[in-house]
Formats: sequence, structure tokens, C-alpha cells
Amino acid sequence: MGDFSLELNEDQTQIQKWVHDFAEHTVRPVAAEWDEREATPWPVIEEAAQCGLYSLDFIANAWADPTGLMLPITMEEMSWGDAGICLAIFGTTLGVVGIYANGTPEQVMEWVPQCFGTPEKIQLAAFAVSEPDAGSDVSSLRTRAVYDAATDEWVLNGTKTWITNGGIADIHVVVASVDPSLGSRGQASFVVPPKTAGLAQGQKFKKMGIRASHTAEVVLTDVRVPGRCLLGGKEKLDERLARVREGRSSGRSQAAMATFEASRPTVGAQALGIARAAYEFSLDYAKERKQFGRAIIENQAIAFKLADMKMRIDASRLLVWRAAWMGRTGKTFESGEGSMSKLFAGETAVWVTEQAIQILGGYGYTRDYPVERWHRDSKIYTIFEGTSEIQRLIIARNISGVHIK
Ligand SMILES: Cc1cc2nc3c(=O)[nH]c(=O)nc-3n(C[C@H](O)[C@H](O)[C@H](O)COP(=O)(O)OP(=O)(O)OC[C@H]3O[C@@H](n4cnc5c(N)ncnc54)[C@H](O)[C@@H]3O)c2cc1C
Repeated sequence: MGDFSLELNEDQTQIQKWVHDFAEHTVRPVAAEWDEREATPWPVIEEAAQCGLYSLDFIANAWADPTGLMLPITMEEMSWGDAGICLAIFGTTLGVVGIYANGTPEQVMEWVPQCFGTPEKIQLAAFAVSEPDAGSDVSSLRTRAVYDAATDEWVLNGTKTWITNGGIADIHVVVASVDPSLGSRGQASFVVPPKTAGLAQGQKFKKMGIRASHTAEVVLTDVRVPGRCLLGGKEKLDERLARVREGRSSGRSQAAMATFEASRPTVGAQALGIARAAYEFSLDYAKERKQFGRAIIENQAIAFKLADMKMRIDASRLLVWRAAWMGRTGKTFESGEGSMSKLFAGETAVWVTEQAIQILGGYGYTRDYPVERWHRDSKIYTIFEGTSEIQRLIIARNISGVHIK
């Protein structure tokens, strides 16, 4: 007893500093430029690969941290540098999580290294679930996967939308329906290997924020992948579908839910990084900027804003760390603690960045200062990886045991 501590250990402090240095010296100076260009920041990804930040090794070590905090710490620092570039570098982990969550150990060994490639030949991964008519409601996916026993191949057809790294990734993990009559319980995940015929990028979206991160449609037209690309394997899928058809539990939705809950704090940590950036910037500004013969921070109206910003940021971090620790140590998310962390950190980032604009006044509204960009960037955190409404649904269902709609 007596060993509870919120102090980071030596390893964590070192990594935090290392990632922060990268964010400060390599990411932040080019953040505005890549936001304007709205293109994938390959030179930054290359630097991240060269120093080992963009690598399987780094991610595997961060994951292995027994406290669960290494990944959120990394995300907070990177996103403090720039959330769009952070996603351009770490969007690959969405695909990696998709493979880990459903793949056999052999499939993990085969595909996960290919998600990263090498510093000489960088590869990216994408995780494609959302469709034009299936966003929050993932049970209604239309993308179909049909098994061709003659060739032991799966044939995928459909259109995915809003996919981070969609079309530019080397590995696409695609969720498709094998038996549409079973809703989400009739779905399975497939790896589409590099250069597979029939997979094409559709439109690339022009976004409000995180513009250095590539978001596009992925069109699948008679995409044939070998049988071994079905994550988890056919035997397991057939067993699962049989169980569902007999009216027994698939056992899968619970596992999938646990995976999502465990990865949500990582997303919350990105929002946290943006909020902290905006808070630090506006605190400095408020001490410098003089009106009526005094620094604007001497007015309670401004100082209290900053007090609330700092408090909500710290509260976000505590929720993020708690959920990350729970995920890593196998605790049950009884009240949707993963959802809480992403929801609270996302909404805090939107609120804090708006306050930051207010503190900077007219300057805050211009592109000469970064706070307007941070506000634009923050908004995605109430939308992707489950909207704020969906997070509230998860929490409400968990705490009540009632199937709230
Ligand atoms: C930049 C970006 C990157 C993305 N990256 C990926 C990716 O890599 N892979 C991927 O698969 N997807 C990705 N997405 C998709 C993202 O996850 C979806 O946009 C999100 O799940 C919401 O779906 P939707 O946009 O269709 O909104 P909808 O589901 O149509 O929701 C519209 C509104 O209705 C609300 N709503 C819906 N259902 C309910 C309900 N039952 N109760 C209360 N309110 C409800 C929502 O909260 C929202 O406010 C990305 C999206 C963006 C914008």
C-alpha cells in the first residue's frame, strides 16, 4: 500500500521530453505551412521515421508500458506540436489496432511491420469502417465481403468514407459485412495488402482542421484478397456466425467495445495537447498584452478564464490517464471511462481554444497567430472516433444498464 502516485517514472519522463523536443523543433515550426498546404507532410514523417518515433519499435514499447501512460503522454506532446501532423504520423496506429484487435498472432506478425515499413521505405496504414450511410451506426455497413471458395479469396465491394490515410496507405484494414442480416455481428475485418487491384482513393476531403492529415474516400471494386487476410481466420468467423444465427452471443461485441474503450484515451490525449498549447499561448499573451495601462491578465475576467482553462485541462488529463491505466491493467470499464476521457478532453479542447481566441482578441482571429488553427483542429475531437453524443450514449448505458437511444 502507499504506492499510489501520479508522478511519471524516469522512462516516461525521458520519452515525454524526447517527444516534446521533436514537437517543438520539428513539428511546430512547420504546422501553419502544412495546414495551409493541406497535404501530407512527408518530410516530417520521414524525420519521425529516421529518429525512430514513427516505428513499430516505438509504438510497441509505448504499448508495453505497464502503466498505460506512455502512449497518451506521446500523443499529448505531439499534438501540442500540431494535431494534424500528429495524425499524419500516428494515423497508422488505427490500422495497427484493427489488426491487433482481431488478428491471430501470425497475422499480427505478418501485417503490423508492413504498416510502418522502414525509414528508407515508409509505409502507412488506414482503418476503414465509416461509410456514407454508416457513420455512428456501424451496424449498417454496406461494404460486402464474399468468400470465393474456388480460389480461397475474399471479394470486397463498397465505398468507405472519411478514411484517415485512405488511398495513400499501404495497408488498409477494411471492415465489411459477411452476412448483412446479422448487422454488426455479421461483420469481419480484412487486411488489404499493398498494391491490391481494385482499391482506389475516391475524393480527398477539404477540411476545417487537422489539414495535414489526409482524409479520403476508399472505393473497393472487386478487391480480391487471399483467405489469410480475413483477420481472425475463417474457422473462427464461421463459428461466430453460427453462434449468432442460433441466437447465442457472439462474444465479439464485448471484446470490440473493450478495445475501443482502451484506445479512446489516446485520442483524448491528442485533444489535451491542443488545449494545453492554446492555454500556454494565451497565458503568455495575457501577461504581455496591455490595455488600459495594465496587462490584460490583471482583469479577473481574463485571469478567471485562464484558471478555468487550466482546471479543465488538468481534469482531462486525469480522465485520460485513468482510462489508459485501466485499459492497460485490464480493468473493466464499468462506467464508460474510456468514453469519458475522449468526450471530456475533446469538448475541453474546443472550449479552451475558443477562450484562447477571446483572450487574444482580434489577433486571435487572424492566421498570424496559431490559436484560430488550434480551434479548428480541436473540433474534430467531438466528431471522429465516436461523436460526443455517442460517447454520452455509451456512458449512459453503462451507468444505467438501460438501453438508452
Ligand atoms: C477527419 C476525419 C477522419 C476520420 N477518420 C476515420 C477513419 O480513419 N476511419 C473510419 O472508419 N472513420 C473515420 N472517420 C469517420 C468518423 O468516425 C465519423 O464521421 C463519425 O463516426 C460520425 O459519423 P457521421 O459523420 O456519419 O455522422 P452521423 O453518424 O451521421 O451523425 C450526425 C450527428 O447525429 C448524431 N447522432 C447519430 N446517432 C445518434 C444517436 N443514436 N443518438 C444521438 N445522436 C446521434 C451524431 O452524434 C452527430 O452529431 C473520420 C471522420 C473525419 C471527419
